[in-house]
Amino acid sequence: MVNMELLKKVVEAPGVSGYEFLGIRDVVIEALKDYVDEVYVDKLGNVVAHKKGNGPKVMIAAHMDKIGVMVNHIDKEGYLHLVPIGGVDPRTLVAQKVRFFTEKGERYGVVGHIPPHIQKPEDRKKAADWDTIVVDVGADGKEEAEEMGFRVGTVGEFAPAFVQLNENRIASPYLDDRICLYTLIEAARRIESHEADIYFVGSVQEEVGLRGARVASYAIEPEIGIAMDVTFAKQVADKGKIVPKLGGGPVMDVGPNINPKVRAFADEVAEKYGIELQVEASPRPTGTDANIMQINREGVATAVLSVPIRYMHSQVETADLRDVEKTIEFARHFLEELRPMDLTP
Ligand SMILES: [Zn+2]
Repeated sequence: MVNMELLKKVVEAPGVSGYEFLGIRDVVIEALKDYVDEVYVDKLGNVVAHKKGNGPKVMIAAHMDKIGVMVNHIDKEGYLHLVPIGGVDPRTLVAQKVRFFTEKGERYGVVGHIPPHIQKPEDRKKAADWDTIVVDVGADGKEEAEEMGFRVGTVGEFAPAFVQLNENRIASPYLDDRICLYTLIEAARRIESHEADIYFVGSVQEEVGLRGARVASYAIEPEIGIAMDVTFAKQVADKGKIVPKLGGGPVMDVGPNINPKVRAFADEVAEKYGIELQVEASPRPTGTDANIMQINREGVATAVLSVPIRYMHSQVETADLRDVEKTIEFARHFLEELRPMDLTP
């Protein structure tokens, strides 16, 4: 059963790339510390939770960071102008709330929008971009905005907006990658017996270039590396290109970023426990931590385990709780069953 209280807590904890210390880091440490032998934080801010075993040594990572925004300048009227942190589509911000983390604590701002009544015909055809988006924080000028704690460099993220659509479906900003981070935590908590030497990693700065997993995998030196990250689920206007579907269960890639022996072992585990895996064709290195882990040191045998979501990188990312539960069980059994194996492709 999905623990909705913990899931919501993990999804909503602050943590734009590079600022994971604003909230999510402590949530992950707190959730894992009683279930592992040791937990530590490295100099980039990765959380590493180690559950000791004889081997093989495996690193399983889900990224803690979120895409977001940073204040670029404050104009004389007191509006904030923004630059993106990671792949934010500026059109998703129009008429939305932004949660900022200022020197004086949390503050909200709203992104302005031209009322339809006074839009000119040409306005209707224009899409918002980073030059037109301004945030109203309630200030009547630059001085007041600064007095409120806003500075050049203040970071913000989509305001929390977690909703349950029905029994199985949820929508919220930041299911990327907090839904997988939750799944990783839950798998760590459920593991009973295992031989593998397991490093659970809450990685930082994935959305700005897979930077946390790079140093974590260097330090840990795993033989096997699993990235848990969301992937695309069939959705409106996908032109038939997206194959995995919501409710179809966990997704695992095949392709050059995936070690075939680890992938075949995953199929064995799935079959043994009656969990159906959806397959995703990934002809290039994936956009996940598995990309950087694979080419760590002398090479790591990597795979990607995903929960499918719709509307990625928007405030309404949508997932199916049945996929979450199956992914937890799959990850848990995968780690419990892991034994030393030949990893040469
Ligand atoms: Zn992600």
